[in-house]
Amino acid sequence: MAYVPPKKLAHDAKLLLEELKSKKEPLTPKDRISIPPQEMPAQNPNDRNENMNEVALGYFAEQAKLEAMRCLQCKNAPCIEGCPVRIDIPAFIKAITQEDFKKAIGIIKNNSLLAAVCGRVCPQETQCQEPCTVGKSLKDVNKAVSIGRLERYVADWERLQKNIAEPVIKPTTGKKVAIVGCGPAGITVAADVRREGHAVTIFEAFHKTGGVLVYGIPEFRLPKKIVQEEVDFLKKMGVVIKTNFIVGRTRKLTDLMGKDGYDAVFIGSGAGLPRFMNIEGENLVGVFSANEYLTRSNLMKAYDREHADTPIFDSKIVAVLGGGNVAMDAARTALRIGAKEVHLIYRRTESEMPARVEEVTHAKEEGVIFHILQNAKRIIGDQTGNVKAIECLKYKLGEPDDSGRRRPVVIDGSEFIIDVDTVIVAIGNDSNPLIKQTTPSLVTNKWCNIVVDENCKTSIDGIYAGGDIVLGAATVILAMGQGRIAARSINEYLK
Ligand code: FAD
Ligand code: SF4
Ligand code: SF4
Repeated sequence: MAYVPPKKLAHDAKLLLEELKSKKEPLTPKDRISIPPQEMPAQNPNDRNENMNEVALGYFAEQAKLEAMRCLQCKNAPCIEGCPVRIDIPAFIKAITQEDFKKAIGIIKNNSLLAAVCGRVCPQETQCQEPCTVGKSLKDVNKAVSIGRLERYVADWERLQKNIAEPVIKPTTGKKVAIVGCGPAGITVAADVRREGHAVTIFEAFHKTGGVLVYGIPEFRLPKKIVQEEVDFLKKMGVVIKTNFIVGRTRKLTDLMGKDGYDAVFIGSGAGLPRFMNIEGENLVGVFSANEYLTRSNLMKAYDREHADTPIFDSKIVAVLGGGNVAMDAARTALRIGAKEVHLIYRRTESEMPARVEEVTHAKEEGVIFHILQNAKRIIGDQTGNVKAIECLKYKLGEPDDSGRRRPVVIDGSEFIIDVDTVIVAIGNDSNPLIKQTTPSLVTNKWCNIVVDENCKTSIDGIYAGGDIVLGAATVILAMGQGRIAARSINEYLK
């Protein structure tokens, strides 16, 4: 879809809303379905690929109202089933049509603590929006009611009011809970456990809090001040945060419980260990894991070349390997840092790409060159050990594999070369084995993910885990959902 300037979107929405208001009788389902899906206003692609500011600008008030009016208020509400934390979606959307945003955000917050984050980064087209009746009627999931954008709208409304309700904390219980990792899973557990009156300390390995929300997802998709506000809220609740503290190295997990007097522990240490292709040339200068590349740019602000202490590679032509959100983030970051060409190489087709549809669209609009059904065979270096090219192979789709997606099959003799000076590997992450190595009795699976029961309890009494360290690299809302389960179990355990 071609880029539409925000002013035009605002103008069109205003006119349509006035026209609909002039209709006396209540809108029929047919009227509602014929309201066009409201596009997200965004920065112009030609400007935004040179700055780090947020790309999506959020709905105008008229657009939010129109989008909410598209909802049919289905009795069976299939959208709720699609949301991992079961937000009462029709109820919050109805509140938007009544312009009662306080009620709307209240409904969302009954189930989700990170509405401004999830409204921006949830893969809605495969979650809440996938089963939406409107999308089904129009035979296009992209025309479903934009639940995520509406969620963002009310969350931002609340942030702008600056009078977020003070959390109610129950009287002190004298019990202490340690949380390992300050990502979405850890943040969720901290809030839910602290509310019960327990003392909570989060131990975070990095010098900044927020997990992937801060070191992985770039500013242009998720402004860091939003994550900071969530963490500030925890501090206001009395949660203590210790940064630069690596559990397993600074202090062992068992010492936290045995020697330091914590009554329960939650492990939310994520999946921060990058996978590599294991192909020739991966040790050349100019090859990065997406984790390193994004951490340098986001956490260390290396994109701000004038002020940042952390350097970042001065790339001209970049190849990014992978088709998930991490690959899109790396490709779009490389453009913003000054690369002239960015090639995204993915071995399946676009419909199998795990990245959010919006990120794929934005990456294309910004000029990322997509190589579909292709993959790297080897990385070629020059005499000084720097990357000078990448050799790729072409693929076709074969039979479905274990994931249900059709397996890519190499086309023999299809080798070709792209001249590049940088290769960013974004093919997934595994869990860091440190905690397992220093806590031998903690049961993990072959990928080093911690094994938990349905209550997020690990093999050790009093120790719970959730998020990517359990699920493997997953999503923010799934991490949060597990955090809520773990918090309930911890609160029950400490009774
Ligand atoms: P994390 O967010 O990884 O947080 C774990 C924290 O634990 C980190 O801060 C880490 O430093 C800390 N830690 C690790 N080990 C220790 C230790 N030993 N001691 C103390 N602290 C430790 N999901 C989406 O839903 N939508 C998206 O658009 C999306 N985009 C993504 C883009 C990128 C680049 C990446 C990498 C991931 C993306 N994800 C996305 C996935 C999502 O961010 C994760 O699923 C989610 O953050 C997992 O939350 P978590 O709390 O389990 O772990
Ligand atoms: Fe949809 Fe995510 Fe919001 Fe659930 S939390 S309703 S999946 S955007
Ligand atoms: Fe509204 Fe779609 Fe949910 Fe129906 S399925 S209640 S139309 S959001």
